[in-house]
Amino acid sequence: MQNESTTSKQNVKDNLDFNLIIHMNSLISLLKQFLCPGCNKYWDGSTTVKERNGLYMQLEFMCYNCGFLTRLYSSPKMQNGRRHEINVRLGIGGTLCGLGRSGVMKLLGALNLPLPIQEHKYREVQEFILNYVEKAQEQSMIDAVQGAISEAGGVEELTVSGDGAWLTRGFSSLHGIAAICSTTVSPKVIDTNWCSKKCSKCQGAESLRHVNFDLFSTFQENHECQLNFIGTSGAMEKEMIYEMFCRCLPKYDIKYISYIGDGDAKVHKYLTTNPPYPGVTIKKLEDTNHFAKRMLTRIKKIKQENKNEVLSDGKKIAGKGRLTDADAIKFKIYFAKAIRESKTDLDKLYEKSWTIFKHHYSTDKEPMHDWCDPQWCKYLQAKLNGQQFNHNSKPAIPRACLDLIKPVFHELCSKTGLARVVGGGSQNANEAFHSLL
Ligand SMILES: [Zn+2]
Ligand SMILES: [Zn+2]
Ligand SMILES: [Zn+2]
Repeated sequence: MQNESTTSKQNVKDNLDFNLIIHMNSLISLLKQFLCPGCNKYWDGSTTVKERNGLYMQLEFMCYNCGFLTRLYSSPKMQNGRRHEINVRLGIGGTLCGLGRSGVMKLLGALNLPLPIQEHKYREVQEFILNYVEKAQEQSMIDAVQGAISEAGGVEELTVSGDGAWLTRGFSSLHGIAAICSTTVSPKVIDTNWCSKKCSKCQGAESLRHVNFDLFSTFQENHECQLNFIGTSGAMEKEMIYEMFCRCLPKYDIKYISYIGDGDAKVHKYLTTNPPYPGVTIKKLEDTNHFAKRMLTRIKKIKQENKNEVLSDGKKIAGKGRLTDADAIKFKIYFAKAIRESKTDLDKLYEKSWTIFKHHYSTDKEPMHDWCDPQWCKYLQAKLNGQQFNHNSKPAIPRACLDLIKPVFHELCSKTGLARVVGGGSQNANEAFHSLL
């Protein structure tokens, strides 16, 4: 019984963890229903605001009859801090809704809440929140690094993907951001970087230069300057990523030894000419999705270039019963699947990718299903059931068309071609991260 009542008291306590907006008059009328601990008569008295900080208030109630004082603190303080929870919540809410101080003022005014807070107080709270978010972000990145290490079997050398972006489009952008992501089963952001080619504070101070040079130089020396990059905007990405490669050693005590980037070869070239770790050559891995997509673009290109050619069987490449765009897309999907499933084993990946070609190239006279999988290959399924398979029972892509696109397989599915995605991953995480910004 006792246990049950403790639990239910605890539940009530948990359920009471919320804020309530009540009118002061309601509070006073509640107080008037209770006896004053000082004089034991029904309470009646005055209310004074002893302290106010944003939405937080400390109220003092004094009994008219006996002068007994009692206090109410409207919001708890944050753990290990002097800030009151309600003000931090207001700051978070304002930020989430994209409200500046003036927007928050309007909202508070409409709700008849205490007078608008001072500008610097509001900014202080916002800085406090930012600091909090930064700490949480740091912790989550540390956790992500630990996760990547344990997924790699305890090896402290990671394969990462990276990507950079400009905050405004175009090559003349003044601000850039970049992120490094792990390539685990569910990739996470493990480091971020930013750079800026100008500082708004410096620019603001320029007007001071001729008026009061002493003040100007004091300001210049003491402000937290945002300018941290000199160079072309096109060089931002490689510099930011290079910096993150260097600092992961002191920061996380790990090395990034393989890099997955987009088609842009600049970053990897920079990492090769300026090795972040002495004696370690950073391996470049292709983004698996980008790589698989090449199957489609190459086939489409061949189709386009040869659309008027008459093939060895007297017909053209495109059209009904020939090599359609849908076939090209299917090849890309099969190729992406092969990479996903066998990206740790080059020999297996080689077989799986050539299977796509060979399976389709097969005829009754020349079946080529050696590397196929009975899970999807109808020929092998028939064979397992002791049945005869007829390659002409369903319309197939004519050999003349396949001959024309065979060079695509020679290029992408050679062992040297495929080696670029072995052990790789996708840069999807980076792209998803940037789309959030
Ligand atoms: Zn009293
Ligand atoms: Zn500055
Ligand atoms: Zn087959």
